Amino acid sequence: MAKFTDETKEQVRAAADMVEVVSAETDLKRAGGGRYMGLCPFHEERSPSFSVNATDKLYHCFGCGVGGDLFEFVMSTQNVDFPTALESLADRYGVELKREEEDPEAARRRQERERLTELMDRAAAFYVSFFQTGDEARKAREYLAGRGLGEEILREFEVGYAPSAWDTLFLRGQRAGFKVMELSRAGLVQKGRNGRQYDRFRERITFPIRDGRGRAVGFGARAMRDQQGAKYINSAENEIFHKSEILYGIHRARGPMAKADRAILVEGYTDVIALHQVGITESVGIMGTALTEQQVAQLSAVVSTLVLALDADAAGH
Ligand code: ZN
Repeated sequence: MAKFTDETKEQVRAAADMVEVVSAETDLKRAGGGRYMGLCPFHEERSPSFSVNATDKLYHCFGCGVGGDLFEFVMSTQNVDFPTALESLADRYGVELKREEEDPEAARRRQERERLTELMDRAAAFYVSFFQTGDEARKAREYLAGRGLGEEILREFEVGYAPSAWDTLFLRGQRAGFKVMELSRAGLVQKGRNGRQYDRFRERITFPIRDGRGRAVGFGARAMRDQQGAKYINSAENEIFHKSEILYGIHRARGPMAKADRAILVEGYTDVIALHQVGITESVGIMGTALTEQQVAQLSAVVSTLVLALDADAAGH
């Protein structure tokens, strides 16, 4: 994606109200000279040592030592990367963002990727609504309730259900204006032996897999009856889905991981969801593969302790 211009960044900085932004996380009291003080949102404390400079739009905590500018505050409290922080502030304070000129080839690739992301989001939303209301999904709802997972946490993790028909997404996607080629590149449909495309996920509970920026890049899917092929399948590896680089739940867990300075690693989708449900929100999942170097690198960038809570079998070993 083409970079936003520096001018754009400075316009957003000028337009944003630092005190308002910080006040969403902690109450601030005026301390004179354009400074404000409050309880630090980054560590537990009883007396305020968190200082905000409203003019220069900087923050610093005299207790735990964190500090930075407007953008860093949004990035660390909302657990997003720089472009996302910039976009949300620009949106909030009415600044029009400009990107640096990009070459046509890069622009085309970016647009293609954005289409795929949109398609994945729509597929995830469809599966969620089918899970919540579809008759066919009743067994799935009962199964997950039986595992102790409440409706709220299932909604938060966008747990869905792919109906048993061969062409639900194939047809819906095309009606929504997507080409068969795009559905195929997103890994939502695949070609059968007779050369016809059909839905990859059928009669399965679906778990959208989001990357660190919160973009849906793939699905995990659990079979709902015996003799249905593999119990769990994932999206096929494609240009947006690289299983070895992703940890399930990372977009929700990164903030809590940083705060706790540890990550808990489990195997299954429902293991991750169950831990988040009971407040152990620094948990992420490997999706039925060995832990990879890329995954370890991602985790060690955020935490110093990694707790392995894997199954007591050969894979877990
Ligand atoms: Zn602090």
